Amino acid sequence: MSAEPTTRTRPPYVLARAEVRAVERVSPNFVRVTFGGDELYDFGTPGDVYDARIKLVFPPASGVLPDIDRDTDDWWGAYLAVPEDERGSMRTYSVRSLLVTDAGTEVVVDFVLHLAPGLTGPASLWASSAAVGDELWVVGPRRGREGRSGIEYAPGAASQVFLVGDETAAPAIARILEDAPRDLRGLAFIEVPVIEDILPIDAPEGVEVHWLPRGEAAHGLRLIPTVLDCLGDTGHTEIVVQDAEGEEMVWETPIYSGSGEEVAGESSGERYFWIAGESGVVTTLRRHLVKDLGIDRAQVAFMGYWRRGVAMRG
Ligand SMILES: Cc1cc2nc3c(=O)[nH]c(=O)nc-3n(C[C@H](O)[C@H](O)[C@H](O)COP(=O)(O)OP(=O)(O)OC[C@H]3O[C@@H](n4cnc5c(N)ncnc54)[C@H](O)[C@@H]3O)c2cc1C
Repeated sequence: MSAEPTTRTRPPYVLARAEVRAVERVSPNFVRVTFGGDELYDFGTPGDVYDARIKLVFPPASGVLPDIDRDTDDWWGAYLAVPEDERGSMRTYSVRSLLVTDAGTEVVVDFVLHLAPGLTGPASLWASSAAVGDELWVVGPRRGREGRSGIEYAPGAASQVFLVGDETAAPAIARILEDAPRDLRGLAFIEVPVIEDILPIDAPEGVEVHWLPRGEAAHGLRLIPTVLDCLGDTGHTEIVVQDAEGEEMVWETPIYSGSGEEVAGESSGERYFWIAGESGVVTTLRRHLVKDLGIDRAQVAFMGYWRRGVAMRG
């Protein structure tokens, strides 16, 4: 199928075969990959990307990226229709930058490299050796569509935002801050492996961005106490990060509950919290915020972006 518009109502998502245009190792643990290509021509809406999640399909061991039927409104069904051994792997990412020029659309993704034996996966491995000309499938929001496909950030009328995350959430936090109104006020806390992983963010002046290199500390153990101290929960003693229980990941927002809890339907309140990262760390923060600090769930989005010891499945 050609990438040109047709008269058929177009689905809210773009399924595009995209090509690597640039690869930059921006820090010890981040590699920045720029994707381009004709099929991205109406991918994403500049200025309105925020934390929109996108899906990437990585080739299987053969290295051959499968063909996926684009002539359907059901990209998930089309992906599953590919025989399993040819399908490769699908993973979820954020858009660090969306560049639309006369030369076309480019989508920039910051990949965290986690390459330790037994702790790596197809996405991280692919990113570690990505080269100009490599191809992936990209699924993401179609430009100009009504609704906020895949965007969770929804501060409502809050006058102060708290953005909290680990390195996997850093690209989304950066995008949120660069797309947000310039009069936004708040705080961002981002835990990264090492000090050299601190990357520039063009944040509104009223938002203080705190980078927290963890060094030798365990994952989350710089982030959790810093956030709790900032919120006045000084009574906490030793922090115990909740361990993996099954493969479920926490996903609780003012409008959706992965565990089936009743939801508020919209965010409300003076403060809005957006918290994403390793699921056990997010769950631990959730427990402290909701149970100890009594923060209303209608003010918080808690999102497990990955799970220690668990490979994602799309
Ligand atoms: C909405 C959303 C947005 C996301 N945005 C980004 C993004 O912009 N950049 C980004 O890098 N990631 C992002 N992630 C996280 C990413 O999808 C996961 O890290 C994913 O597991 C990576 O796939 P993989 O194939 O490398 O590893 P998998 O095959 O999924 O997992 C293999 C092993 O690696 C471990 N693992 C996975 N991620 C990490 C990590 N970061 N550090 C240490 N160990 C890990 C797993 O626990 C498992 O043991 C996002 C996730 C979501 C849900």
